[in-house]
Amino acid sequence: MNVKDVPFTKETIERTVGEFPTPFHIYDEAAIRAKARTFTEAFAWAPGFMNYFAVKACPNPAIMSILREEGFGADCSSLPELLLSEQVGLTGEQIMFTSNDTPAEEFAQAYRLGAVINLDDITHIKTMEESCGIPELICFRYNPGDARTGNAIIGHPAEAKYGLTGDQIVSAYKIMKDKGVKRFGLHTMVASNELNGAYFVETARMLFELSIRIKEEAGVRLEFINMGGGIGIPYRPEETAVDLQQVSEGMKELYEQMIVPAGLDPLRIVFECGRMITGPYGYLVSQVRHVTQKYKQYAGLDSCMTDLMRPALYGAYHHITVLGKESLPCTQSYDVTGSLCENNDKFAIDRSLPEIEEGDYVVIHDAGAHGYAMGFNYNGKLRSAELLLAEDGSVKLIRRAETIEDLFATLDFSPRSIS
Ligand SMILES: *Cc1c(COP(=O)(O)O)cnc(C)c1O
Repeated sequence: MNVKDVPFTKETIERTVGEFPTPFHIYDEAAIRAKARTFTEAFAWAPGFMNYFAVKACPNPAIMSILREEGFGADCSSLPELLLSEQVGLTGEQIMFTSNDTPAEEFAQAYRLGAVINLDDITHIKTMEESCGIPELICFRYNPGDARTGNAIIGHPAEAKYGLTGDQIVSAYKIMKDKGVKRFGLHTMVASNELNGAYFVETARMLFELSIRIKEEAGVRLEFINMGGGIGIPYRPEETAVDLQQVSEGMKELYEQMIVPAGLDPLRIVFECGRMITGPYGYLVSQVRHVTQKYKQYAGLDSCMTDLMRPALYGAYHHITVLGKESLPCTQSYDVTGSLCENNDKFAIDRSLPEIEEGDYVVIHDAGAHGYAMGFNYNGKLRSAELLLAEDGSVKLIRRAETIEDLFATLDFSPRSIS
């Protein structure tokens, strides 16, 4: 028996492939909108609440526009992400620029857009000042080091390349105050794909404490805290999603205990979640090319790890549904593979599934974040299309599949030397 739902039927996919062949990524608009609303409603109490959607999770303008309509901003970490945000009509402080190892010209673009600039490093003050000057509003990313434990994907904070240390952070605010900055924010991101809601309440406690310390030691009153992203999703059927209502209530309690008595209310609360918003609502749809038995049983698909590299990169679990066979018993065990010349090109290893036949459509779940986005062209693999399952049930193309011409576009077939 399959234990994860799919928002479309085998018939819908059979109709779709007539126009848009597999493999493709398809996103469920209604579910993405519903998740965005649930998040915003859970934090209705929080002053100026906003989620800046982490563009890197699903950098498609159709998805970003949907989220803009739902009141989200965009969290960007590169120039193309900034330009995409501008293209979908996000302006000024609807854009958060949280980058690291940042080139000067990207600060200039962020400044031009009026984005909130979130500095990852104390040396970036100089880079920013030289490239665009000093903005009216500045944010710093805090790295608590040994004060917190992270998790597997992001690693231990003391080993992470991000952010300012506890020793640096207060002086950073003093420096910016002396340079004439009037408005301030504080950011952190210490976990990735974290399913324990209590972890985020602890992060809020850490940022609230630090906000009070910054007020006392630097004389700077923060306008917002940015909790970063990192809210996990239940990739495995037995896992459960983070209860946003519970996280919100835990944070509200701390806000009332810490921020209100310190005279720091109102303090805006913002997030930069990406994965949680689109991850569960994107599916990689693929067709089975070959089924074969060697020392193990294999099902070979027409997609490969260039379409979704999380299993190969992190050993991540992605649930698999064989369309039309949802209610059949999982009597077989397969390695579900792609066609790359890499033996870690496997979507699943020893996965119990119903009997698979050539031509079956296979759905790989939870591919809506860091799926298409992490794609690459190794072995000359072309990137797939992206489709939207719209609220009215229709299927729309939101990014065409790559062609060989696209792949070759940067090549020079008759190279000349540089004289
Ligand atoms: C990746 C990232 C996010 C989003 O993380 P999710 O796991 O998608 O929620 C937010 N902020 C920063 C700085 C990031 O690097």
